[in-house]
Amino acid sequence: SRDSISYFGAGPAPLPTPVLEEASKVLLNYNDSGIGITEISHRSPEANAILAHTQTSLRKLLDIPESDGPEGYQILFLQGGGSGEFSAVVYHMVSVWLGALAAKKQEQQGLEEKVERLRLDYLVTGSWSLKASQEAARLVGPSHINIVTDARKHRDGKFGLVPPQDTWTRTKSEDDVALTYYCDNETVDGVEFPSAPSGPNLVADMSSNFLSRPVDIRRHAAIFGGAQKNVGTTGITIAIVSNRILPPHAAMADPALLRKFGLSVGPIVLDWPTIAKNNSLYNTLPIFDVWIAGQVMQRLLDQSPAGKSPRIAEQEAESDRKAGMLYSVLDGHSGVYGVVPDKSARSRMNICFRVKGGDAEVEKAFLKGAEGEGLMGLKGHRSVGGIRISNYNAVKLSAVEKLAKYMVGFAEERK
Ligand code: PMP
Repeated sequence: SRDSISYFGAGPAPLPTPVLEEASKVLLNYNDSGIGITEISHRSPEANAILAHTQTSLRKLLDIPESDGPEGYQILFLQGGGSGEFSAVVYHMVSVWLGALAAKKQEQQGLEEKVERLRLDYLVTGSWSLKASQEAARLVGPSHINIVTDARKHRDGKFGLVPPQDTWTRTKSEDDVALTYYCDNETVDGVEFPSAPSGPNLVADMSSNFLSRPVDIRRHAAIFGGAQKNVGTTGITIAIVSNRILPPHAAMADPALLRKFGLSVGPIVLDWPTIAKNNSLYNTLPIFDVWIAGQVMQRLLDQSPAGKSPRIAEQEAESDRKAGMLYSVLDGHSGVYGVVPDKSARSRMNICFRVKGGDAEVEKAFLKGAEGEGLMGLKGHRSVGGIRISNYNAVKLSAVEKLAKYMVGFAEERK
């Protein structure tokens, strides 16, 4: 039964049981209407209320500025996953960059040379930022991509570090930079930025540490994340987008101009201005997924100490506590376990380690023993192997305690 299992999957990932219990009811009958939540129209008043509730809850939790002015931010729900946003950010930020150039009369001369200087700055600290940079190179051509840092070069060809800033090679002129991209938490490699980097037109992938710590929204042009880890079910991706990079505050480049320079024009369903203008209802939005995310957020808000909102700082403390417990078991048994990333960049969300012993059999034995205790979802990503404990918000302290105990027992036996 669900009660006897502790699940540490990396995404899709565990959700709070009370949310799923309520979900099973609304699937059959939403708000006593006799119609299930996945059956109602995405344009119905009920769906609109769900959408507004989830947006408002997220605003409160992450302190997202609300305003029509350039300092405001829009909350968008998109489809196509985190991977869809790898493409969307490129289409969008390039269009904003070229749109700004085209809008300035004095910039018209030598436009071609200026476009040649266009750069997208990528911080590659793990498999997901690598994939995002590869998608950017595919869309606009490798010559426009500047890899500010490739963490593998600092560590025998493997990820596991956020290289020191004094080794970064940023594009020299900020004017040429359409986008500075980073992945806040690398799910496969267990690497998390200790704090957000800076850079012009900063865009972050927060798929795997969304709502796990406070975020300085204002320094970002955009933040996105798939819902299926800390926030909800697979099916929606959340984007928090600054008004500064949306019409009417930003002039988007004419598609003909983009094409003239061989730059990509993106599909309409990934087009942030279109999604923003239609309040995420340009096409059929999976309202059930938006509802789930809203319920998860509401729980965080409800658990806020009276008069003190948001609860994110406490969620951070809880994540730190759970991750700290696991890392201390790993460090305390370093003869048996080897943490993959460097201490300076250890993720609180995805704890990646190897069981020492020279062959894959040892890790298999670790996983088999864990499953015997009801500790599931611990296998590392297929690309890197090893063990990965995903410590998302819905993973209870008691589950982590149980796992820590198992890990100690396994290590003692191998001594
Ligand atoms: N970014 C990160 C950090 C991820 O962990 C993932 C998926 N695990 C993705 C992007 C891709 O998301 P999706 O599978 O929803 O496209």
